[in-house]
Amino acid sequence: MTEAKSDFSKGAAYINGQYVPISEAKVPVGDWGFTHSDVTYDVVHVTDGGFFRLEDHLDRFHRSLEGYRLDPGVSRGEMRTILGKVVALSGLKDAFVAMISTRGVPRVYGSRDPDDCDNTFIAYAVPWVDVIKPDVQARGAHLLVAQVPRISQDSLDPTLKNYMWRDFTRGMFEAKDKGFDTAILLDAEGYLTEGAGFNVFIVKGNEVITPDRGALRGITRLAVLDLCPELGLEGKVAPVTFEELMDADEVFTTTTAGGVMPCSRVNERIYGNDRPGPISAKIKETYWRKHKEGWHMTPVNYADADN
Ligand code: PLP
Repeated sequence: MTEAKSDFSKGAAYINGQYVPISEAKVPVGDWGFTHSDVTYDVVHVTDGGFFRLEDHLDRFHRSLEGYRLDPGVSRGEMRTILGKVVALSGLKDAFVAMISTRGVPRVYGSRDPDDCDNTFIAYAVPWVDVIKPDVQARGAHLLVAQVPRISQDSLDPTLKNYMWRDFTRGMFEAKDKGFDTAILLDAEGYLTEGAGFNVFIVKGNEVITPDRGALRGITRLAVLDLCPELGLEGKVAPVTFEELMDADEVFTTTTAGGVMPCSRVNERIYGNDRPGPISAKIKETYWRKHKEGWHMTPVNYADADN
C-alpha cells in the first residue's frame, strides 16, 4: 500500500527539521518564544509565483537574529531553500511566507539561562493575507490615534521584528470600540510611530514622509521610498508630529501583507474627498504594476515540491 500524501493545500510549514501541513506545525508550551515572547520573525510575500525582495527580508531577519542573540543553526542558503520549498509544497502563487526563530525549550528543566535553549527555525507559507481588508483599502482606512503610547524604543528596539504587541493590541481594541478600522500609535513625546503590522506615511505637497522613530524599517516602506523619485515625489524619513499628521494632504500605510494601503480618515479628520488621495492611489498602482513587471522578484521553483 502506498502512503497517503500530506495535504499542503491550506499551507505548508517547516518545523523540527520536517515539512508538515500547516495544521500540524505546533510550538511546545515550554518554548520561550511562547512563555517570554523570546522570538523573532520576518514575513515576505509571494505574488504570481515570485518572492518580493527576498534578500532584503533575509537581511532584516539576520539583523533581528543577531539583535536578539538567536542562532537557529540554519545557514542563509538553507533558509532560502526551505522558504522556497514551503511555497512549492503549498502550490500557492500568492502567499504570506513567514520565517521564525524561537529561543526554544530549555534543555535543563526550569532553567532561566537562555544559553540552555536550542533556538529553533520555523517557516511556513499560507494563502495571501491583507492586514487591512481590500474593501476597506478601496474606501480608505479609518485610523485612530490610540491613547496608548508605543512602547519606548529604549526598552524594545522596533527595528528588530518582534511579537510584543501589547501596545498595538490595546490600540486595536480601542479603535474597534470607537468604530475605526485600526490604530496608529504616537511615542511618549507625541511623535508618530507605526501601527499593528504596518508603517505610516503622510503626504504634504510633493513630500511623502514616514516617521524616523519608533518603527520597523519596513520593506514595503523601502519600496515606496525607492519609487518616489520616478513619480516626481520626494520621499523622506523624518520626525512626524501629531499636528503634521492632522495637517497632511493624504495618509497611507504600508506592509508586506497588503502593500500600499490608502487611508481616508484619522480620528475626526477627513482627508480629501473621504476616499484614497491621488498620490497614495498612484503609489499603490505603481507598486503593484512593478510587481507584475518582475521588480525585485525571485521566482519560486514549484518543481522543488517533489524533491
Ligand atoms: N511595522 C510593524 C510593527 C510590522 O509588524 C510590519 C510588518 O509586519 C511593518 C511595520 C511593515 O513592514 P514590511 O513592509 O516589511 O512588511
